[in-house]
Amino acid sequence: MDDLAQWLHAQLDDDERTARAASWTDDANTWHAEPSPYGARDGGQRWYVEDAMDDGVVSHVDPAASDDEGVARHIAEHDPARVLREIDAKRQLLDLHAPGEMEYVEGDVCMACDVRGGAPFYPCKTLRLLALPYADRPGYRDEWQP
Ligand SMILES: [Zn+2]
Repeated sequence: MDDLAQWLHAQLDDDERTARAASWTDDANTWHAEPSPYGARDGGQRWYVEDAMDDGVVSHVDPAASDDEGVARHIAEHDPARVLREIDAKRQLLDLHAPGEMEYVEGDVCMACDVRGGAPFYPCKTLRLLALPYADRPGYRDEWQP
């Protein structure tokens, strides 16, 4: 794929498929971490992650070299609900960069790369920064580095 915005849309589509596969219903997309009533083998606190329907997502967090609570809270904070909100926000940012003939509506076009007409500064730094978290995926081009 030659176009950075087009490639980014494909990455977001992949992320959405992954997020939706992690949840059995949209009503369960919000997750939370809870201390488990069952203690850890070392006598410490064990944690688990539940979805919004109080169904277990991770029955017990038992990292070998990290803090149980920290890992459980990290998983819960990056639940499908948040990931889907981030994808939606990124898609709206990408919409500001849809190339082609666009009528000027203040706020609806990225003024940095000005995708109307010739788009001399496309892709702008905003698009390059949006792509940076995906730099390890196939198809990312070094020329897109911000
Ligand atoms: Zn731009």
